[in-house]
Amino acid sequence: MPELPEVETVRRGLAPALENATLTAVQVRIPKLRWPLPPDLAERLIGNRVERLTRRAKYLLVHMSDGCVVIIHLGMSGHMTVWPEDAPTPGRHDHIDFVTDAGAVIRFTDPRRFGAVLLDHADTIDDHKLLSKLGPDPLSNQFNAEELARRLKGRSSPIKAALMDQRIVAGLGNIYVCESLFRSAISPKRKSGTVQGKRAEALTAAIRGVLADAIAAGGTSLRDHVSPDGTLGYFQHQFSVYGRQGEACPGCTCDIEKTGGIQRLVQAGRSTFYCSRRQR
Ligand SMILES: [Zn+2]
Repeated sequence: MPELPEVETVRRGLAPALENATLTAVQVRIPKLRWPLPPDLAERLIGNRVERLTRRAKYLLVHMSDGCVVIIHLGMSGHMTVWPEDAPTPGRHDHIDFVTDAGAVIRFTDPRRFGAVLLDHADTIDDHKLLSKLGPDPLSNQFNAEELARRLKGRSSPIKAALMDQRIVAGLGNIYVCESLFRSAISPKRKSGTVQGKRAEALTAAIRGVLADAIAAGGTSLRDHVSPDGTLGYFQHQFSVYGRQGEACPGCTCDIEKTGGIQRLVQAGRSTFYCSRRQR
């Protein structure tokens, strides 16, 4: 499933092809993905210019010059491809093509169809039901140690669960929560309300750092990825603890013979990977 760094990588990959381009055609080949596609999608977009492409958590927002905003979510398996010219004949999972006046095709592909493409307007986008309850984006200026501490204060749930709650911080998935807790040496079981002061500072810095590293890795693979198949959206990234049960954790002094290395714990039905010695 695409996580926030991947969506940000997609945004950066799409921006040069989309920003300031006028859409000359929009081909929709399926009536619905996760939800029905707007029946007037093509009508609303053709002849309209893309002003900019932004991201809110895992949602891509395409801001059009007339105020129209396209909301795109990649779901479980969605990805976007940029064909500067000569796009191949669409396959059965290629559901939407956005064609620009430069002749580029931006293609939305989604085998499992859990993705979404919706329409809204600049005046109402902040109140959209998918976006209005989201907490601050971890890469935005609204996300800082004081704000995180304020949102965690008084909560008795484990910090792992709190960070997965999109109303507290938006767009962090299981992988990046595990990695951020490891980097800030905070136990996933720690009571959320106790993550204040220095701990909140360490956690904020860790979240930003882990995401920045992943985006940098995505940028690297993006360059390798754009040609020849043009696909944007997935990349390999080296994780410190995620998926590494029983291994030694990087930069840690724990004796793997005694501790068993990185441990796996199930919290709220999801696997948590952590070092019980380093993370308190
Ligand atoms: Zn360790």
